[in-house]
Formats: sequence, C-alpha cells, structure tokens
Amino acid sequence: MNSFMPTPRTLMGPGPSDVNPRILTAMARPTVGHLDPEFIRLMDEIKGLLQQVFQTQNPLTLPLSAPGSAGMEASFVNLIEPGDKVIVLKNGVFGGRMAENVERLGGVLVLEETDWGRAIDPMQLESALAAHPDTKVVAFVHAETSTGVKSDAQALCAIAKAAGCLTIVDCVTSLVGCEVDVDGWGADAVYSGTQKCLSCAPGLSPFTLSDRAAEVVQTRKTPVQSWFLDMNLVMGYWGQGQTRAYHHTAPVNALYGLHEALLIAVEEGLAPAWARHERNHEALKAGLEAMGLSFFVPESERLPQLNLVTIPEGVDEGSIRRQLLADYNLEIGAGLGSLAGKVWRIGLMGYASRPENVLLCLSALEAVLSNCQAPIERGVAIEAMQSVYGA
Ligand SMILES: *Cc1c(COP(=O)(O)O)cnc(C)c1O
Repeated sequence: MNSFMPTPRTLMGPGPSDVNPRILTAMARPTVGHLDPEFIRLMDEIKGLLQQVFQTQNPLTLPLSAPGSAGMEASFVNLIEPGDKVIVLKNGVFGGRMAENVERLGGVLVLEETDWGRAIDPMQLESALAAHPDTKVVAFVHAETSTGVKSDAQALCAIAKAAGCLTIVDCVTSLVGCEVDVDGWGADAVYSGTQKCLSCAPGLSPFTLSDRAAEVVQTRKTPVQSWFLDMNLVMGYWGQGQTRAYHHTAPVNALYGLHEALLIAVEEGLAPAWARHERNHEALKAGLEAMGLSFFVPESERLPQLNLVTIPEGVDEGSIRRQLLADYNLEIGAGLGSLAGKVWRIGLMGYASRPENVLLCLSALEAVLSNCQAPIERGVAIEAMQSVYGA
C-alpha cells in the first residue's frame, strides 16, 4: 500500500468546495496540545472571527468539533425538551432532517411544507403560529442546498420573535456566500459548516447561540440528551474568562484551517465576498442560458452559490457527471430526493467561486453535452459569460 495521493479536482458541487491552498498549508503546521496557551489564544481569535462573519455579538459563538449536521443536532438537542412544540418550515432535504431531530427528541412537530424549488412563504409561518400559539421554537433552512433556494431569514425570524418563539436557522450553505446577519435578524441558534462558502476542509460546525437561547439551555428541566453537544459542558472548554477544562480534544489542525479560512473571509470583507458570489453566478447563468439550459428556481429566490440547472431531455445525467470528472477533473452535484435525475447542482462556493471555474464549467459541460448530441446551442456560452465579466 502507498500513501493516498488524491487527484486534484475542481469541486463545483454542493460541498465540499475547493479548499484554498492557504488553508491546506495552515492545517499542515505542527500540532500543539489542545490546552497549550498558544492554542487557547487561537481559540479566542477563532471565536472573535466567527462573531464577525456571523455578524453577532453573542458570547456563545464557537466551532463545534463535528460537521454541519452536528450544528443542526446541537441546536435542537439544547433548545428542545420533551413536549415542546416546534414549527419546522421545510422546503427541501435539510428541513426534513430538522423535523426528524424534533421527533427524536420527543418534541411536538408542526411540519409546514413548501414546494421544492421555492422559498418559504412568511405568510405560511404567520398562519402556523396563529394555529399554534403555544409554539416554542421555529426552525428553517436559510439556504436549502438540496433545492438552491434562499428564504427570507430576516422576515421569518421577525415573525417568530413577535410570537415569542426562539428560532433555529441553518446557515450551512449561506455563511460567507450571501448575507447572514444573526443579530440583525434576531436569530437564536444559528449553525454553519466549514466546507461550503468558507472553503475550508469539512468537519467543523461554526455555531452561535443568543443570550436568550443560552438562558433557555441553562434553565432546562431535563438534561440535554447529548453529552457531547451539551452547551453547558462545551462552554467549560470554550467559555470566556474561565479556566479551560478538558471536555474533548479539539481537532487542533482542523482549527488551524478554520482560523485561516476566517482570516481570508475577513480580509476580503463580507460584502465583497457576497458580491463576488453574485457576479460569478451571473456569468455562469449567462453562459448556461445561452447554451439553452434553464434554471430550476425562480430568479428572485436563487442562491448565487448553488445553481440548480434543469437537465435537458434525453440526457443521461449520471454519465455527464462521470465524464466531467474523468475527463476534466470537474465535480458537479446530482439532484437530491425528488429532484434526482431532474437537475444538476452546480456550486460556486467560496474559493471555487472564481471566473476560471465558470469558464471551465461552461466549456467542459458544452464539450460533454455536444459529445452525446444533447440539444444545446454550441459556441455561444463563453461570449455570454464574457459579456458579464466585461461589463
Ligand atoms: C451540507 C449541509 C448540511 C450538513 O452539513 P455536513 O457538514 O454535511 O454535516 C446541513 N444543512 C445544509 C443546508 C447543508 O447544505
């Protein structure tokens, strides 16, 4: 057996996205002890940087030592006790997982479904709250990675708050790719992942809890069901102004990577990063539409960092993705759930959101689609793309 030497790929699926080489270099630095004073200083810097990218003053802001799914689980397991009523606004796969979390915790689930490919309608939340005034928590996904849809987190959080509810907001795919404003929204539990628009290696979950939510966790009647994700215990390790006590061994090198990823995000600035994601999305869209391909989601509800493209009639979508990977080292995503076989999911996340990747994707897709006689317009995509970049 030999060392594992992966082929370098261009990652334009739903995540992981291309990791910035600066981050890979950071992760290769020497491992120190997880209670080493230098490491504790790094932990404090990471907390401050996370507050900046989440746009929050919440003291309880930290990365959980597990992927985005752990952020979801931590939000539910800390805030919900058996018998608590939770409205889950579901418009894709990840909303479905939220509902499953509620049921497993013995919560009372009120499931409000939206058609796949559409944003959550704030009016639907209004009427659900009117029918269920005893609701404790409202949960939804800001950027649904399964459908490429962005919902109006500001409006949804405002409605939930006016009804006296706590909110859980999944920002795994939105953080750094489009605006996340935890304090501006008044959101209570918000989590993300490192492998989407932060362009870091997978495996960590940035997480933040409002003071209001932290108080709910501290005054629970029953213990948090998960020992590992119990914020009352995790804070003994990550907490401010106290002696750090061993809870678990932090993934030291993974945190070097997150620190570098957050530095990169702050160096670029949040608004410029959102604008970059928007511009590369516009260029990809111009090229794909010139080719004759269409977008699945209505324009005003699209995520710039995740593009759902309808697969042309008669095309074997799996074979196209296999050719892109084999011939061009380019990964794009398949449809999930009810969208399997109907759409491709093309990610332009973080470091992968660059003009050279848009160019590669358009030209490689044109090449393999032409190869299988798909009904596309040839030779026009790059010019359409250029009309966006040149403008
Ligand atoms: C990717 C993703 C998750 C899960 O994150 P993992 O790191 O894969 O556990 C959760 N929610 C959304 C919206 C995602 O896109």
